[in-house]
Amino acid sequence: MPNRDVHVALGLGCGLLATTGAVAMRRQRAEPHPADPLHDILHVLGGALGGAVGGRLPDLIEPAIHPNHRGPAHSLLAASGAGGIALLDLVREFEDRCRQAAITCRAQRVAAQDAARETHGLRGVVHAVHASALLVLELWLATLAGVPIGLAAGYVSHLLADGLTPKSIPLLGLRI
Ligand SMILES: [Zn+2]
Repeated sequence: MPNRDVHVALGLGCGLLATTGAVAMRRQRAEPHPADPLHDILHVLGGALGGAVGGRLPDLIEPAIHPNHRGPAHSLLAASGAGGIALLDLVREFEDRCRQAAITCRAQRVAAQDAARETHGLRGVVHAVHASALLVLELWLATLAGVPIGLAAGYVSHLLADGLTPKSIPLLGLRI
């Protein structure tokens, strides 16, 4: 049975690959927003983080406390569900919204930085604090864009790895 570290590493790798692919396709389309290298990198980083969590998730839902712990969350049905989620338009839309919001934050941050440079005293400090807060928000949103796909890829990677063990994974995992 793959241990926790193997699942986390595998999930991270799969999340990274899935978001790298998603970002590459986005760049080819150059739609709906022009590519931003920093946002692309953070998008992939978010995918890797989501993948690491997704790689752990099935065992968090159904901890490996006995040999037959693999229930619905470890089933083939759950694997296809997680795989299907990654292909949903809803996920693309979430990515678009996060990235668009990050671009808006960047534009506002640049304006706040300019204002901080041009004003002195307390007003200048307020603009500088505002710019810093916008920077944090921008980085957070750009990272968040990659989390859902990474999470789904990590989840599927866990079930694939478990599926290759002698115990394999159940079709539905329901005990009636
Ligand atoms: Zn497992």
